[in-house]
Amino acid sequence: MSASDVVGAGKVVTLHYTLTNEAGETLDSSQDSDPLAYLHGADNIVPGLETALEGRSVGDRVTVTVPPEQGYGVRDDDGVQTVPRRMFPSEEEIVAGDEYVTKDEDGNPLPVWVVGADEETVTLDFNHPLAGETLHFDVTVVALREAAPEELEHGHPHGPHGHVHGEDDELS
Ligand code: ZN
Repeated sequence: MSASDVVGAGKVVTLHYTLTNEAGETLDSSQDSDPLAYLHGADNIVPGLETALEGRSVGDRVTVTVPPEQGYGVRDDDGVQTVPRRMFPSEEEIVAGDEYVTKDEDGNPLPVWVVGADEETVTLDFNHPLAGETLHFDVTVVALREAAPEELEHGHPHGPHGHVHGEDDELS
């Protein structure tokens, strides 16, 4: 087997996955839908899973336990902030669980999640909803190919199961 047959930087990897938490509850799964495609080495998936997939081949099944530090991070209690409702479009309904993208100090996209809202205020959490969770991944590698130059430039895969560019897609 040559190095081109295994997962590594610059490969588009397609996989089926099931994610469960410490309590054994399924948080997310691709089993009843399309598999997920990601670009290896481009921070598309959490570091602990990416590391576990390194060097694997099509057909391989990988089960890995990922601590928060290698997953969605540890929870930062200072990450919860309450902001005025008027900072959001008035016609938009805002409910807990909504994800928005704001910008950090350097102008990079920064995701934020709504944890509560009333007429005057919106409470936001800069922690990922899975921050602080130990993650259990059960993953099977379905397909593997070299990334196209455009995909490497964008930092994500295109095509089936990959990134679809929409009209309001700022990242392109
Ligand atoms: Zn793209």
